[in-house]
Amino acid sequence: MVNRGKAKLVDGFTTLRATQRHSLEKKYSTKTPAEESQAAEQSPAQKAGQPTKPMSIGRTVMPTQNEIVCYSCGFGFVMRGKADSTQCPKCGARLGLKDETITGAFSDELITAGKVRLTKSAILDGGTIVANDIVLEGLVKGGSIRAYKTLQLAGGAVIPEEMIVAKNLHIGTDASFDFKGEMTFHDIDVQGELKAHLKATGMVTVRAGGHLLGRLQTEHLIVEEGAGLNADVVVEPETSEETESDEAADEIRKTA
Ligand SMILES: [Zn+2]
Repeated sequence: MVNRGKAKLVDGFTTLRATQRHSLEKKYSTKTPAEESQAAEQSPAQKAGQPTKPMSIGRTVMPTQNEIVCYSCGFGFVMRGKADSTQCPKCGARLGLKDETITGAFSDELITAGKVRLTKSAILDGGTIVANDIVLEGLVKGGSIRAYKTLQLAGGAVIPEEMIVAKNLHIGTDASFDFKGEMTFHDIDVQGELKAHLKATGMVTVRAGGHLLGRLQTEHLIVEEGAGLNADVVVEPETSEETESDEAADEIRKTA
């Protein structure tokens, strides 16, 4: 009734090492409904006999969730555990996952499905940076950058607005930007100050201490206590298409 693969998966959640080993083997995995009901069947027994077991499930699984976007085809998927590379389940491309830090002049090509940080002393001039997440603290003069997930602009970051290519935009604390043209993102997170004409297809969050000015059209808006909003705002929920973040949320619910 239970095949070896399923038994192995359930066992894998009992220790972190086993979970990591499992995700290295499979790279990309989701629970089937059968596995979920199996886990549910186990919980009464665990409550009676081993009360600490449900806690270990939460501790080991949650931090290893990692949403990856393929830089070859744009497909988003959830990977468990850490690895230097993985394979896109849709197009089969081998994806590097390493995080990189750039601290000086850079004009090469850097492509990763991990995170790239350009520090305050970094200068991009003529190179190409493609990553899932890009944190910009330094200067972008030329070349191109593309964040398949989030571009975070820190205080002191300098980038021509026409060079911003990202799914999500994050304006860090102490950062202040004034963009003239209309820009579209999925999620926008404002911790500093941002003046812009923005469209968002996902969630806009103005954090405590943050300030958003200009014009905003979004589907979802959160303005935290202590945040400033001084903009023409249109909030129009769009329910016709399921977004990638909804899928990611489903993944988290499945494994919780
Ligand atoms: Zn792909």
